[in-house]
Amino acid sequence: MPQQILAAVLNSAPGKLILESLTLDDPGPDEVLIDVHFAGLCRTDLHEMEGVWPTTYPTVLGHEASGVVRQVGERVSSFRAGDHVVTCFTAFCGECRFCISGRMSLCINRDELRRRSQPVLTNAAGQPVHPMAGLGAFAEAMVVHQHSVVRIPDSMPLAAASVLGCAVVTGVSAVFRSARVEPGASVAVLGCGGVGIAAIQGARLAGAAQIIAVDTNASRLVDAVKFGATHTVQAGSVDTVEAVRDLTGGGVDYSFEAIGFSSTVEQAFAMLGPAGTATVLGMVPDSQPVTIRASELFAMEKRLQGTVMGGNQFPTDIPRYVSFYEQGKLLLDEMLSDVIDLQGINGGFELMGSGGLTRVLVDVVGSVQSLREGVT
Ligand SMILES: [Zn+2]
Ligand SMILES: [Zn+2]
Repeated sequence: MPQQILAAVLNSAPGKLILESLTLDDPGPDEVLIDVHFAGLCRTDLHEMEGVWPTTYPTVLGHEASGVVRQVGERVSSFRAGDHVVTCFTAFCGECRFCISGRMSLCINRDELRRRSQPVLTNAAGQPVHPMAGLGAFAEAMVVHQHSVVRIPDSMPLAAASVLGCAVVTGVSAVFRSARVEPGASVAVLGCGGVGIAAIQGARLAGAAQIIAVDTNASRLVDAVKFGATHTVQAGSVDTVEAVRDLTGGGVDYSFEAIGFSSTVEQAFAMLGPAGTATVLGMVPDSQPVTIRASELFAMEKRLQGTVMGGNQFPTDIPRYVSFYEQGKLLLDEMLSDVIDLQGINGGFELMGSGGLTRVLVDVVGSVQSLREGVT
């Protein structure tokens, strides 16, 4: 039976999220119905609220979530009611040439997987509501394709687990899968928000000898050291490229751009030493062209590459990151800077925009409970 759920809806951009009651359809044969427990606020959501990245309106944002499975479709055999799960942005078909070569974050059938005979969400006016990335986590519950879900142990705290689905899988997988950082290498990370902090932790796990955190915000740099940075550079007060070159004796082996500006992509490339690799994780808008010295591509064998969600293989990667967490090697609780209610979600995005925070989480179950109690 389709059900009524509370969700934070973006009706147009630039705009704010509005709490609305929506109709959520039953799961189809390959889908899973999940009660959302925690959902992280990501810069990608903010980009859509600001209208920097256009989307289909109205929409339910949110793509970094943890929750509990309530119901599964008839073709779903890997999950059952009661399973604790994390969702991921990059659903995969498992059959296309990218999936079978292990590059499932590039799956070409993703849109096909999300196609349904009727909308998954409908508003009070009967209008279809688009769930971001086939997820839509700023909601009490969501119906998603089974290939965008991964099971986690019941012992894993759901708050800490939620950041695995975007920030952590992007930042850590970029280090292991996209850049393939080797022990002893030097690494610079530009931008110390959620994804940047995850990349710093990935570099530490990979055994990088030098991990240079770069950010304009001094308090973020203090935090970066707690997560594994060995050096910090405060952008804006010094020439970032020169500072990294000085620290590394001529240029860094690997740089990661985790902000999404053309200027920081250019810096990430310029600060590389010979044979260095710059990996772009940030979403640079098409209106910002990137200029690099192309002679350095052949004369110095520098590389500039991008990665979507860290080039992850999330059904494999997320259980590994859970193990790292359980062993105390991957700090997740420390990444949670604030836990807010669904009704205060716009304030959470303002906090994020002001900088200085790693990850703001929405406690969805707690908020819905208190809202319902307020109603009765
Ligand atoms: Zn995200
Ligand atoms: Zn595929």
